[in-house]
Amino acid sequence: MTASADLYSRQKAAVAAGVGTRAIFAKNAQNAELWDVDGKRFIDFAAGIAVNNTGHRHPAVMRAVADQAQQFTHTCFHVAPYEGYVRLAERLNRIAPTGHDNRTMLVTTGAEAVENAVKIARAYTKRPGVIAFSGAFHGRTMLGMALTGKVMPYKRNFGPFPAEIYHAPFPTPFLGVSTEEAIASLERLFAADIDPERIAAFIVEPVQGEGGFNISPNEFLVRLREIADRHGIVLIADEVQAGMARTGKMFGFEHSGVKPDLVTMAKGLAGGFPLSAVTGKSEIMNAAHAGGLGGTYAGNPLSVAAANAVLDVIGDEQLCERATEIGRRITDRLTSLASRQGMERIGDVRGLGAMVAFELVEDRQTKTAAPAITNRIVAEAEARGLILLSCGTRLNVIRLLPPLTIEWDILSEGLDILEASVEAAFSASLSPVAA
Ligand code: PMP
Repeated sequence: MTASADLYSRQKAAVAAGVGTRAIFAKNAQNAELWDVDGKRFIDFAAGIAVNNTGHRHPAVMRAVADQAQQFTHTCFHVAPYEGYVRLAERLNRIAPTGHDNRTMLVTTGAEAVENAVKIARAYTKRPGVIAFSGAFHGRTMLGMALTGKVMPYKRNFGPFPAEIYHAPFPTPFLGVSTEEAIASLERLFAADIDPERIAAFIVEPVQGEGGFNISPNEFLVRLREIADRHGIVLIADEVQAGMARTGKMFGFEHSGVKPDLVTMAKGLAGGFPLSAVTGKSEIMNAAHAGGLGGTYAGNPLSVAAANAVLDVIGDEQLCERATEIGRRITDRLTSLASRQGMERIGDVRGLGAMVAFELVEDRQTKTAAPAITNRIVAEAEARGLILLSCGTRLNVIRLLPPLTIEWDILSEGLDILEASVEAAFSASLSPVAA
């Protein structure tokens, strides 16, 4: 029995079934490569779900954490604050694209950042309602699930969810939902379900992550901003997946020129250490009373040290420019693959910077989702040493999220494996996947 198989059976006996996993048991990892407990090498196009934008174990991040560990690892910021947190807040305040004077608070997970952004928007507006969008993902806490617009696997059996959360359609041109229709549905929601004067916030991802890498059209964000301004609604940009240089700009919203009021960050913020942030206009951020925000581990010193190093690395290694180039190389490969004979089940290739995905369909006319073939591609890639992630409300999208520091030869090797995996999955879609 392999060490992986042994661990897999121990896991089945010890870990709750709801914690879904793959059978890749990590032993060690460096930049864009990961080795499992059996010594098998993988190229990592998942980056811990868009977390290791600076690669696994970036030396500058490792050094910063090791140095911090020599000083102290936890004091609780509310009890004995520290300079690293303040410095990170100063830096995030400078870069968050609100166009205003900002304030920051730190917590630990993406879901917590979302929860806090909503708390702050409610405290500022004194209103209860929040509008999110179909296909959105905002976390697995009760409020996160309520805001999420994707039932499986996130919401089934876990309700009831907090009240006063509404969903409007998200524009998805590939499936025929235009910005005009999405905005018209939002206006209908205001007429039929909730007075816009009772809405505290809109929360929107610049590129929907779990929902299938659906890019917010610029016009959609412009219209949301107008509606928000008209009714005094806070516009929250959930940049947990798209932020921190992933899309070729520090924040996904920057592509549109639209300025959000609050920004949530996590994942790529601290290069593999748990940390999240809410940064936004000081007037709004300061609306919550002292003691209303925070947590025991919020802004952990090791994570904060990592985040300060991550921001240095993003600048020093020009990771925004690199993300753009990575995205260009991936998109070129995928569009030429999709144009080949026999590749008609690749229905769409889309992305922003190094956040690129392709959607699998039964055929390009009906656009019927092909989730089984999607799973097969992921399995074929895994067998060949490439870690891929699927996503999408229809479970038929493969997203590519390599570290932004990936070596060019490893990127192209990964893309070769991807092509081979797609070919194998299409040609052998009825036979079992190789072990
Ligand atoms: N918002 C977005 C846009 C996300 O992609 C995620 C995580 N996939 C979250 C929130 C939740 O983050 P976490 O898993 O750290 O709670």
